[in-house]
Amino acid sequence: MSNSISTRLAVLGSGPAGLTAAIYAARAGLNPIVIQGIQPGGHLTTTTDVENYPGFREVIQGPWLMEEMQAQAEHVGTKTIWDHITDVDLSCRPFRLTGDSGTQYFADTLIIATGAQAKWLNLPSEEHMKGRGASACATCDGFFYRGKRVAVIGGGNTAVEEALYLTNHSHDVTLIHRRDSLRAEKILQDRLFAHQNIKIIWDSEVVEFVGGGNPEALVGLDVRNRLSGETTRLPVEGAFVAIGHKPATDLFEGKPELDSDGYIKVEVGTTKTSVPG
Ligand code: NDP
Repeated sequence: MSNSISTRLAVLGSGPAGLTAAIYAARAGLNPIVIQGIQPGGHLTTTTDVENYPGFREVIQGPWLMEEMQAQAEHVGTKTIWDHITDVDLSCRPFRLTGDSGTQYFADTLIIATGAQAKWLNLPSEEHMKGRGASACATCDGFFYRGKRVAVIGGGNTAVEEALYLTNHSHDVTLIHRRDSLRAEKILQDRLFAHQNIKIIWDSEVVEFVGGGNPEALVGLDVRNRLSGETTRLPVEGAFVAIGHKPATDLFEGKPELDSDGYIKVEVGTTKTSVPG
């Protein structure tokens, strides 16, 4: 039997952005609901050590932090709902959202805090090797590669953090980056360069995920040097793609208006989208 819930304010997404919005809305007396989405707590639930969240002298754990945030939001009057929105109609008032559960939500106002999903290189061989050695989350899957050779692709904070994290499991970690300098913060770069178990392959891109064995699993990456054009095979059992994220805005099909990268456009200096409310 389908259900219906009406609210003054719905928040889509239960990462730090969604829960922060809910805490402020609840304290303003708006009785918000937070619809948690497919990954309650967001990406921080897939990470381990967090040392750059203000207020904690010691390293804290991502999943713990998100539990605390949810409890804080609920404590001040937020209702959290475990559902995933599959359809949004922003042309009517109140807005109508349809959940995977069949529940319809009617909201006077909507805060979109749906975050982003990991980007992939989009090679057919990468797709084929997902679950067989290709991953986009070292903190989720790194454990499975204990004592094995692994590579991380990317040059941002995520890639460097993943490479450092993987040294907990592997003595042979290679970072592959398409340029000759990293985008990651200096403190992370310093740790990366100082680590004796991490090698870096500069100016290079992965052109093939190579499988082997029975059952088939990743045995290597074909890596092409962008300057020389030469391709060499790097033997690895795990490859972690860490090249950024794509905003989770497909649901909105351009309403509110999106930019060319799929992020929601807002009025400069505000969080107002092209759809009032
Ligand atoms: P970024 O966008 O910062 O970095 C993506 C990296 O992937 C870049 O080095 C980019 O190369 C490379 N890249 C992108 N596309 C491709 C491709 N098709 N092939 C090969 N390489 C590619 O993403 P992150 O996920 O690292 O970080 C996102 C944001 O989150 C940043 O603002 C970051 O600072 C933040 N963050 C902060 C953390 C922390 O504070 N502890 C931890 C993790 C993330 P190029 O440099 O050439 O563009």
